[in-house]
Amino acid sequence: MHELSMANSMVEAILDTAKKNDAIKINEAVFEVGELTMLNPEQLKFMMDVLREGTIFEDAEIIINMIPVVIECESCGFKGETKMDDNMDHLMSVAKCPECDNTRVHIIQGQECNIKTIKIEREDEDA
Ligand SMILES: [Zn+2]
Repeated sequence: MHELSMANSMVEAILDTAKKNDAIKINEAVFEVGELTMLNPEQLKFMMDVLREGTIFEDAEIIINMIPVVIECESCGFKGETKMDDNMDHLMSVAKCPECDNTRVHIIQGQECNIKTIKIEREDEDA
């Protein structure tokens, strides 16, 4: 159900942005989702498809870019991408240092769940 609540807030944010910009139709929405969120992009899309039915977001193309996790290790100073451990409980996602296995790391990137760009049509844009 993690994806459902996230999809819900993403769709709301999209519609809110569109409304503020006097959109009559949304053509495309690009999302950036960090791997640390443990969100499944396919499920996210599926949920959004359900939630956006009957809205101006309905026919838009949804693009989800997964953002790799980047950490800085407090122990050895390693800074870079790290892979999430697949054996971890998905509700307890923990990033760790690939060099020394330390979990005391600063997350630099990978927790985001943002709308990157949205393409809309406005009423007065009709040329
Ligand atoms: Zn380390």
